[in-house]
Amino acid sequence: MSAECYPVAKAGGLGDVVGALPKYQNQSGHIAKVVMPMYRTKFLIAHEWEVVHKGYTNLGNWWFTYTIIKEKNNVLDFDLYLVDINGLLDREKIYGYSDDPERFTAFQISVVDWISAWAHQPDVIHVHDYHAGLIPFMIKHCYRYQHLQNIPTVLTIHNAQYQGWMGWDKSNFIPAWDPWKRGMLDWQDTVNPLASGIKCAWKVTTVSWSYLDELRVSANGLEALFEYEKGKCVGILNGIDTSVWDPATDKYIENHFDIEDADIGKLKSKKLLCETFDLDIEKPLIVFIGRLVGEKGADLLPQAMGDSFYHIGRTMNFLILGSGFPEVESALESMKPLSQKDYNVYIGYNESLSHLMYAGADFILMPSRVEPCGLNQMYAMRYGTVPMVRNTGGLRDTVIDYGDEGGYGIRFTYAAVGDVTQAIWRAVELYKDEERLKEIRQQMMQLDFSWETSVKQYIELYKSL
Ligand code: ADP
Repeated sequence: MSAECYPVAKAGGLGDVVGALPKYQNQSGHIAKVVMPMYRTKFLIAHEWEVVHKGYTNLGNWWFTYTIIKEKNNVLDFDLYLVDINGLLDREKIYGYSDDPERFTAFQISVVDWISAWAHQPDVIHVHDYHAGLIPFMIKHCYRYQHLQNIPTVLTIHNAQYQGWMGWDKSNFIPAWDPWKRGMLDWQDTVNPLASGIKCAWKVTTVSWSYLDELRVSANGLEALFEYEKGKCVGILNGIDTSVWDPATDKYIENHFDIEDADIGKLKSKKLLCETFDLDIEKPLIVFIGRLVGEKGADLLPQAMGDSFYHIGRTMNFLILGSGFPEVESALESMKPLSQKDYNVYIGYNESLSHLMYAGADFILMPSRVEPCGLNQMYAMRYGTVPMVRNTGGLRDTVIDYGDEGGYGIRFTYAAVGDVTQAIWRAVELYKDEERLKEIRQQMMQLDFSWETSVKQYIELYKSL
């Protein structure tokens, strides 16, 4: 159960994971199905659906009908079910409405209500992030679902910053529950769906080991809970969907390449980028792709780039793709006129440009303050692009500094302008050493970030329950 699933609806890494994990679980001989809200998306309109269930239930005093529809042609290689609650879920955006608590609580009630009508029970219920975080509680402690309470539940946390807080006045949304279990919903006097999921799920996973360690000291208020529940928490690194992210077949790029002809293939994509964005092909190309928000350290970019030009010289190109905080967007835009064929920015979301950038860039910069797993660095490495990452979360678990034994990337300690500038200097130096760069590219392109490894770990975890 999840609020996102690529390509149906994606806002970030959660969508990528839920779109890929079940596919690979099915390939390994299991049956995984995805249930998510029915938003008004292009995917919905473009595909055929059948109604599999209709139910009638309540959110507090409000009684409603919900409908479960299933995609008919199995286009995603797993069964996909959408929950339609008229007026509540069928909107264009995934998040950001003032009634999000009502929307996601009604979604979860409908899912549990539907499952309680199944003839066979699932072996495991796997919920993702706070939008599905109340399900383990409902199964355990709501009177009307008590026949489900032996179904093991797993909660995966993709981002603990967002917890779905609701005032206690909204606790009557949840179907009648054992009042002795109030503490299983509560965290610091609010109903906290993520905290409830951590308390009630049989197992909790995070999308990297280092992120799990960090949550015990920094988790937007849940630190003590992560410390207390550490016995049931494990880290399982996300994989990447290698059928979508493969430089030899990528449908978004013209000049395909593999490990044998990576240098020439990358150069062709770089040429295209440099022509399109008026950059100098002779200089190393350093890119940033992602949400322009504090979590990603995007606010550091303008000064770090300015300092690099000033202190290191105009010996590198920067190309930025993203959208987010208006002040970061305008700071990046305002640098455009100062470019000497070495800087450009594209504000917005552009899937095909992102693929071309992974293919054509020499380096990708990720000065994240928080990075639960991070997919960009894994995509980049598969396309032979050297990651420059802050030493945090999944970045720490996937990138080894090229100065260390067996290393291939550039790592730095602080999300601070000085550290980022120094990393840029090291990238410029590495670019001068053609032989070393070539070796590093070859090494990175052979790394295995495929889903197969992660799927095995999830299956082992399910079996342990
Ligand atoms: P998060 O989920 O925190 O945003 P992840 O690294 O887990 O970060 O996933 C980010 C995904 O979104 C990657 O697939 C990345 O390529 C994509 N992405 C982010 N911003 C953009 C953008 N502006 N245009 C195209 N793709 C983007």
